[in-house]
Amino acid sequence: MSAALDLSEAERSRILAKTARFAPPPAQLADGRRDLVGLTRDELAAELATIGEAPFRVKQIWHWIYHQGVTDFAGMSSIARPLREKLAQRFVIGRPDIATQQTSSDDTRKFLFRFRDGQEAETVYIPDRQEDRGAVCISSQVGCTLACRFCHTGTQALVRNLGAAEIVGQFMAARDAYGEWPSPKGETPRLLSTIVLMGMGEPLYNYENVARAMTIIMDNEGIALSRRRITLSTSGVVPMMDRAGAELGVNLAVSLHAVRDALRDELVPLNRKYPIAELVAACRRYPGASNARRITFEYVMLRGINDSLADARELVRLIAGIPAKVNLIPFNPWPGSPYETSSGNAIDRFAQVVMDAGYSAPVRTPRGRDILAACGQLRTESRRQHAPPTA
Ligand code: SAH
Ligand code: SF4
Repeated sequence: MSAALDLSEAERSRILAKTARFAPPPAQLADGRRDLVGLTRDELAAELATIGEAPFRVKQIWHWIYHQGVTDFAGMSSIARPLREKLAQRFVIGRPDIATQQTSSDDTRKFLFRFRDGQEAETVYIPDRQEDRGAVCISSQVGCTLACRFCHTGTQALVRNLGAAEIVGQFMAARDAYGEWPSPKGETPRLLSTIVLMGMGEPLYNYENVARAMTIIMDNEGIALSRRRITLSTSGVVPMMDRAGAELGVNLAVSLHAVRDALRDELVPLNRKYPIAELVAACRRYPGASNARRITFEYVMLRGINDSLADARELVRLIAGIPAKVNLIPFNPWPGSPYETSSGNAIDRFAQVVMDAGYSAPVRTPRGRDILAACGQLRTESRRQHAPPTA
């Protein structure tokens, strides 16, 4: 047992070392000021100490940045003006720039964010149709290394990881765009109150920045989203699933998409490294999975490829005993994509087999397809400018 644990620890270190080569740019601006967004509380305390401020300021500034959403020290009205000015000389409260934004006919909105080094990633806000709330779909990387066959992002080589500030910044900038910070009357924001890490990139290949960003977002004195309102989607980076479960405890979504290794090897090439049996075993041991907190298995419906009744039966056999739901995602096409969406009939029949086995099997309504904002349609023009330094 402990040998197995040591092995997965070594594997985790290897993944982290490899992904560190795609590091985000430093938090220092060209003018020497430092971005406070993305720092842990301890790091924020250390920064404040450099200008002679005591640790108790952390709580106050944290509240302004993450609870009130201010982007300007001048707005921190509980802080005396000389200190506000001193802060503004040394620090900024950063946001990514909105390069463009588009709104779909179904009200889904896609933001193209440009970061300090000019690289770009997309974020999507998906309003709930019935309720007065919605989900923000956040990117974790610019591009992706994994090249899943059905995914538009997978056609864009990995440019780099997003930093914690850039990950939190997508959410905060989206809240800015909707004016969704607590009003002076103290009403709490509702619209942007769920996060899905389902945008560009593989979040578990950028674990440290994602973990740091989620820890900031979950902090009770700031944005204070509950871990139940955050879902991390992975294509199956098995060793990091254990760590995410233990450290973050957010909801887990797993991009399964095929129930036999031969097909999954082709659709999700990462399967060659972490095959289905290992992936399902990692789901079985994911902490906190229960009927109230089920693991979501995502299954993209590809016509004639993975949508047969035999596939559906094998799926329920594979996940037997796991508190789970199966999210059936009609394939969203993109320019040059090699697949077609399954017919409505095939999807219904597939869903019925899954439901007969006692699992809920919602069919995800495509949202924002007209602006290429639906699952798997995101991609930007960013490219690597320099070869990465060797590890
Ligand atoms: N890299 C992570 C998260 C981003 S992708 C992952 O793969 O899980 C979010 C979801 O969209 C995944 O389930 C992914 O498989 C799915 N997806 C990708 N391309 C798609 C497409 N063209 N149509 C429908 N879903 C797609
Ligand atoms: Fe990357 Fe996820 Fe797209 Fe696969 S589906 S290429 S892991 S973003």
